[in-house]
Amino acid sequence: MLWRPLFLAPGGDGWFAGELRVRILVLMRRMNFTDTQVATSGTARGINRGIVLNLIRRRQPISRADLARVSGLQRSTVSLITEQLIREKWVIYGPTGRLPRGRRPTFLQLNEKRAILVVDLRPSITTIAVSDVNGRFLSQQGIPTPADPQTAAAKFSEKIRQMIGSHPELVFEGIGISVPGRFDEHRQRVLFAPNLKWPEFDLRGPLEKATGLQVDMENAANACVLAEVWFGHAEKTRDMVVVTISEGVGVGMFTNGQLARGLNGMAGEFGHVPLDLEGPQCSCKGHGCWEVYASNWAALRYYQESGAASNGPSFQVLLSLAESGDQMALKALDRMAHGIGRGMRMVVAVIQAEVEAAVLVGKPPRVRPAAAEPSVARLRGAVALVLQKHFGPSAPVTRLRELAGARRAALRVQ
Ligand SMILES: [Zn+2]
Repeated sequence: MLWRPLFLAPGGDGWFAGELRVRILVLMRRMNFTDTQVATSGTARGINRGIVLNLIRRRQPISRADLARVSGLQRSTVSLITEQLIREKWVIYGPTGRLPRGRRPTFLQLNEKRAILVVDLRPSITTIAVSDVNGRFLSQQGIPTPADPQTAAAKFSEKIRQMIGSHPELVFEGIGISVPGRFDEHRQRVLFAPNLKWPEFDLRGPLEKATGLQVDMENAANACVLAEVWFGHAEKTRDMVVVTISEGVGVGMFTNGQLARGLNGMAGEFGHVPLDLEGPQCSCKGHGCWEVYASNWAALRYYQESGAASNGPSFQVLLSLAESGDQMALKALDRMAHGIGRGMRMVVAVIQAEVEAAVLVGKPPRVRPAAAEPSVARLRGAVALVLQKHFGPSAPVTRLRELAGARRAALRVQ
C-alpha cells in the first residue's frame, strides 16, 4: 500500500476563460504604453523564450517547423530563440528527422548534461539526488537528518560537494530543496516546521556559501504541486489542491496556474486547522489539528492505543502488518483514512466557497492519486523549482498558443 499525494482539480471551463481574458487585457495595456516599449519587448522575448523551451521539454525531439506550428510563433522568431538556446547550451541538436520528400528537419532536444542537485529534507531521513533537466535521477543517497540546522547545513554541503564531484560530465544549475515546513521568500528562512523540531533557520545562506550554487527552497506540498504540473499529467490543470500525507499533513494550492503562498508562505496550512479543540496535542502545540488525526504518526498512535504494541513500530512496518492481515494495523489505518477524509471535506468546502463566491459553477473537484511515485514527488518538485527560473511557468501548450495569438492581436491594435 502506497500513500500518495492527492489532488483536487476543480473542473469547468469558466475559470479558464476568465483567466485568459485577464491576461489578454494585461498584455494589451502593456502594449499601449509606448514609453515602456523597451521593457515590453524584453518581456515578450522572455515569454517567447519560455514558450519555446517548455515546448521542447514537453515534445522533444521536435523540429523548428513544429515549434512554430504548435506555438503559433513566427518561424523567424523560433529560429532566433532556438539559436540563442543552443548557444547557451540549454538545447542541443537531436536526431535528424525523416520526411517522405524534401529537406530533412533537424530535431531539437534539451541538453541532458545540465543538471540540478535536489534535496528532500524530512524529519528522519533526508534524500539528496542528482537530476537531469528532464527530471531523471542519475544518483540518489539518503542520510539521517541531523538534529539541528547548523549540523545539517555542514553535512548536506559535504554530501552535495561529493555528489557534484562524482559527476564531472554535468553542469549544475542550482540546488532545489523541499522542506517539511513553510518557507518565507522575503526573509529567506524556514519559519514553521513543527515536525522537524528545528528553530526558525536559514539553510540557504550556508549552503550557497559552501557550494557556490544558488539555492531555492519550497514547502514539500508545494514541491508536489510543481512535480505534478511539470512532470505529471496536470499539464492543462490551472487550479489544483495537493494533499500530502506523511509525518504531517501538507496542503499545496495552485490557483490560476500559480502557487498560492500567502502571508509568510502560510497559505495552505490546513494541516494545523483544529478539528477538535479538545483533541490530542499537536507538534505545533495546538490541540486536535487535522494532522493529529490523519498523519502517519496518527496511525501509529491509533495502533498503540489499541494496545497492540508497547514499543511502536515504524509506519512502514505498520503498512506491512496491515498487508499481512493484522487486524489492529488495518484498524489503525482505517481510522487514519477517516481522519484524512474529515480534513478533505474541509478543504473541499473552502474550494467550493471560493467557486461560489466567484459566481462560477463548475464541475465538483476530482480527487485522484498523484502521478509521481511518492518517494520522488518532492525531489521532482525541487527540480522544477530550479528549472522554472530559466523556463518560466510550465504553461500548457494550448494556452501558450492562445497567449501568443493574443500578443499578436495586441500588436495589431497598436
Ligand atoms: Zn497542529
